[in-house]
Amino acid sequence: MMDNNFDVIIIGSGPGGYVCAIRSAQLGLKTACVESRKTLGGTCLNVGCIPSKSLLNLSKTYQKAQKEFNNLGIEVSNIKLNLSKMMSNKNKLVLDFTKGVEYLFKKNKITHLKGRGSIQSTNTVAVVDDSGKKSNYKAKNIVISTGSIPASLPGIKIDEKIVVSSTGALSFNQVPKELIIVGGGYIGLEMGSVWKRLGSRVTVVEFLDSITPEMDKDISTEFLKILKKQGINFKLDSKVTAVSVIKDQAVVDFTNHKSQKRERIQCDKVLIAVGRKPNINSDILKIGIKLDSKNRVQVNKKFETSIKNIYAIGDVIKGPMLAHKAEDEGIAVAEIIAGQAGHVNYDVIPAVVYTSPEVATVGKTEDQLKEENIKYKVGKFPFLANSRAKVNNDYEGFVKIIVDEKTDKVLGVHMIGSHVGEMIAEMALAMEFGASSEDIARTCHAHPTHTEAIKEAALAVDKRPIHF
Ligand SMILES: Cc1cc2nc3c(=O)[nH]c(=O)nc-3n(C[C@H](O)[C@H](O)[C@H](O)COP(=O)(O)OP(=O)(O)OC[C@H]3O[C@@H](n4cnc5c(N)ncnc54)[C@H](O)[C@@H]3O)c2cc1C
Repeated sequence: MMDNNFDVIIIGSGPGGYVCAIRSAQLGLKTACVESRKTLGGTCLNVGCIPSKSLLNLSKTYQKAQKEFNNLGIEVSNIKLNLSKMMSNKNKLVLDFTKGVEYLFKKNKITHLKGRGSIQSTNTVAVVDDSGKKSNYKAKNIVISTGSIPASLPGIKIDEKIVVSSTGALSFNQVPKELIIVGGGYIGLEMGSVWKRLGSRVTVVEFLDSITPEMDKDISTEFLKILKKQGINFKLDSKVTAVSVIKDQAVVDFTNHKSQKRERIQCDKVLIAVGRKPNINSDILKIGIKLDSKNRVQVNKKFETSIKNIYAIGDVIKGPMLAHKAEDEGIAVAEIIAGQAGHVNYDVIPAVVYTSPEVATVGKTEDQLKEENIKYKVGKFPFLANSRAKVNNDYEGFVKIIVDEKTDKVLGVHMIGSHVGEMIAEMALAMEFGASSEDIARTCHAHPTHTEAIKEAALAVDKRPIHF
């Protein structure tokens, strides 16, 4: 018989929950993780980061074969898309990843409780399995990591067939001729890139006057320019007023709130990508756990909710909805429960958009610094003048480093270009160590690499770049 008493029970096995479970077990805590989905890994592994990056990679390869290979002296003919095979590749990858978490649970002796978890009291979690059987488990500590779910707009119903969330857009069985994306955030733009490369006509309808509005303005302006050049259509300043489904088609109505011009587009699929909302189960409210003004679980610096031995992490609490932020919180909370000093530095959380080119940012934007009245200097360097980017014939974009005017300490780094999703780690590390642009400029960077653009941007802070 299973012993139903645990040091920690974690509800949800996304990157927050499963990482918290592994770290808890490493620290000698008797750990269980409840998951209602058939497979472990949460949104990220099942319907988020992993399948979307797989389709981005596969669709990019297809587009390269179709549009670039012949020009490069690699003669190919008869290139045909086999969408169901592409989807099988993506599905196999997802399965491998989720099985990987299963393996890690076994290796670390974590109990996987299958079913829907609910907090019955400050020390009891009930789990109802697929057959409806309910079992109670006792825990000294409970961690809520129930993640997030897609948000929609009032009056718009997501059916995951014609009007879809990102989950539906990861599994179309045919390339839509006409795809409308409501929302110009990173999820909409990544999925839009996938389907554009596979042959859809893609239109993004965005309420604001720019895409990825939280990013540094220089970056979002350049990003929009590049995506437009790739053939994605944008309707900015536009409010979607209705989405109606007629047989197997949808009609999207929207109004430009500057010109008041009304437009209507008929399409095969509509992707609603207006953000995600915290997944709050009713039991959380029943036992009196407080929410903040944005309906997220309220936590203090130690990730404690309003009930002391119940913690929350990941998308269900404040902060950017990103897998690595959830993971770091998972580690921190396990260490706090074990009596250590876990913490997360929210000033240095990188964010990447995996389009082509990629976009990567960490730290403050110019607008944020202006708002905070902090005086700063900027160094910029274009990939056009970077030898590796030129060699690879892939030189759109730039690196932008923002530093404190007085101290030269790096406050933010914003990049658009090939490989910047990998390059941002160097900048996060530099910021964690309190680096100045001088430190970066004096660090030897291998030649020829894209990372030399970082060194040059650091030199450009004091107007001394070498190659531009
Ligand atoms: C299309 C898409 C692409 C993305 N790409 C990226 C990316 O490239 N990089 C990045 O950093 N982030 C990305 N994200 C965001 C990322 O997936 C989330 O930030 C991350 O998954 C949050 O982790 P979490 O552990 O908080 O929650 P989740 O991953 O949402 O996991 C929560 C889990 O809890 C389970 N659960 C909920 N309630 C219960 C219950 N009562 N009982 C049992 N189980 C329960 C759910 O089934 C789920 O499995 C993407 C998201 C989407 C949708």
